Amino acid sequence: MTETYVVVGASLAGARAVEALRTEGFDGRVVLVGAENHLPYDRPPLSKELILGHKQPGETLIHPAEFYSDNDIELLLGARATRIDAHGRRVELDRGRSIPADKVLLCTGTTPRRPDVPGMDLDGVHLLRTVDDSIAIRDQLRAGGSVVIVGGGLIGIELAASALALGNDVTVLERDAGLMRRVLGAQIGDRLSRLHSDRGVRIRTNAEVARIEGDRRARRVHTTDGFAVAADLVVIGIGVVPAIDAARDSGIDIDNGIVVDEYCETSMPNVYAAGDVASHPNELAGERIRLEHWQNAQNQGIAAARSMVGRREPYRDVPWFWSDQGDTNIQVAGHPRVSDDLVWRGDPESVEFTVFHLRDGVLAGVVGVNRRRDVRMAMNLIDKRVRPDPALLADPAVDIRKIGEASSLDSGTYR
Ligand code: NAP
Repeated sequence: MTETYVVVGASLAGARAVEALRTEGFDGRVVLVGAENHLPYDRPPLSKELILGHKQPGETLIHPAEFYSDNDIELLLGARATRIDAHGRRVELDRGRSIPADKVLLCTGTTPRRPDVPGMDLDGVHLLRTVDDSIAIRDQLRAGGSVVIVGGGLIGIELAASALALGNDVTVLERDAGLMRRVLGAQIGDRLSRLHSDRGVRIRTNAEVARIEGDRRARRVHTTDGFAVAADLVVIGIGVVPAIDAARDSGIDIDNGIVVDEYCETSMPNVYAAGDVASHPNELAGERIRLEHWQNAQNQGIAAARSMVGRREPYRDVPWFWSDQGDTNIQVAGHPRVSDDLVWRGDPESVEFTVFHLRDGVLAGVVGVNRRRDVRMAMNLIDKRVRPDPALLADPAVDIRKIGEASSLDSGTYR
């Protein structure tokens, strides 16, 4: 009897997983279920290239349409999985449908958070998660005007840079005391914040949205501290929550996402999870983590598919992501924490520097601003758990690869 493997979530993790099922030789039935009515596409361009017109929606697809027919992958788009019936071996879908499944991979991703404030339903208020959201925002940005972005995280700042480049008047409202502090820490976040405000983005920190005022359209955004700013367009980027409903309703263990082991297996036999939704034990971090970035979605999707076909190998990538903010490229690798000891290479006041994160003397993470190469080389040292000499890290004349050769290695995991 032919087996059926169902992958739920037609995004990067899901698209790479079905590809890997075939390259790993699985010749049974493969069904890819997706809630959106689009072929799987990449999300990084949604706040940048698509907004700026450097890419059209068709150019963001992960695979062309014929890939799915050529590889005998059934696409079930516009369908939402609601529950896995482990005993009946079925995936239940909305509108009373269901499909048989011998194994299931959940790549359900995340859902954007919505502030619980008046005015969210007015015209001109958008979240930015899907290609449809991006196109609607792009069309309004091209018309020009005042843009208020709620949330100074990765979406907020990338979009602010794009909106500014299109000639808009841009204000970012961030509830924290600085931008991107949760991800990059205060020192780096504040440096980048100055960079964006020098270019013309208005940044207001300690500012939490209280209400959006308008007639039929949004006209003004008010914050809880009494500030108000005019808006033709409001974009919300205040973070995301893992989309765990189908897993929870199936009785699968949840803890800040779907709990998986190092082989991407959930608490339910024959059910796997990967990507933004999966909380996995990360050997380098020394703890269970959930990553919301492109590299993890792609590589964990592939790792899960390999586990499904019996090629079980622990998933242990060094986490990495990039953020393009106008002409500034930021790369983050490893598992940096705000409590780490920092070693700077380059002038913190410049627009080109690297910051190494040491935890108990071990290289745990790296942040590079316009320093792609440093980050790439440091990832190798992070993977090896190197204990580097901070003076060598700080010296731009020293080749980072050589630091690895000159350092001792740590035998444990990071605490
Ligand atoms: P994010 O990076 O978590 O940032 C959200 C920001 O909004 C945080 O600084 C948060 O502050 C702030 N905030 C929360 N509630 C607020 C409120 N009521 N008023 C004002 N500010 C508020 O999330 P995101 O920018 O929305 O991005 C969504 C997801 O897409 C994330 O998973 C992100 O990693 C991913 N993404 C990745 C990239 C990339 O890898 N280059 C680019 C874009 C998006 P607190 O920290 O105080 O909550």
